[in-house]
Amino acid sequence: MNFELNNFELTRRLKAVLFDMDGVLFDSMPNHAYAWSHAMTDFGLKMEPEEVYMNEGRTGKGTINILSNHYWGRDATDEEVEQIYEAKSALFNSLPETQPMPGAMDLLEKIRAQGLMRVIVTGSATHALLDRVNAAFPDIFSPELMVTAFDVRHGKPNPEPYLMGLKKAGIQASEAIVVENAPLGIQAARAAGIFTIAVNTGPLPDSVLREAGANLVMPSMQYLADHWGEPSFTFNI
Ligand code: MG
Repeated sequence: MNFELNNFELTRRLKAVLFDMDGVLFDSMPNHAYAWSHAMTDFGLKMEPEEVYMNEGRTGKGTINILSNHYWGRDATDEEVEQIYEAKSALFNSLPETQPMPGAMDLLEKIRAQGLMRVIVTGSATHALLDRVNAAFPDIFSPELMVTAFDVRHGKPNPEPYLMGLKKAGIQASEAIVVENAPLGIQAARAAGIFTIAVNTGPLPDSVLREAGANLVMPSMQYLADHWGEPSFTFNI
């Protein structure tokens, strides 16, 4: 994949923007960080909130096994994975419902007005995801342009979710942009050959997002929305 592609060429070819969900469209990461760190503690595994952000995008099993290998020296059994994941999900569901990320709808409306496709690529395995997305962002997304954990064999940082997003949209990597917040998500998008804008909506330093391969790092979704389309913007749409 040619990453020397300049912004003008990418702008000319652009057909779709692929969005990650948690930490990009929804301000859900603080709740995920709280639920993961507390559920792990209950099972004798210590997970700092920052580690949740570093591992965002991994499957539940993958996340649990990183901790179990560190503290127990082995993979968690299927039963342990199930128990910990259930505890995490129960804690998460007990928290106040997460809200749309400020600026997300502004950006989505601009992109829709440009006639570009909007695609969701998430590692989430939430049923009724479409209902939730449609309630928060009416008339923006369609079910055939969504990739969830149910569509792929390998989660981020594997490129499969983003490659599936391109396939569903019927486009090439050079015709898309990804908007991501997580290091592993950025790695996945770049491994799929897609120009990637990171929005730093969490506690990690910008350098972590750059080192993961982000082509640009923006301070927030609102900032990206406000500057999308401006001639002076670094990425000149
Ligand atoms: Mg995310």
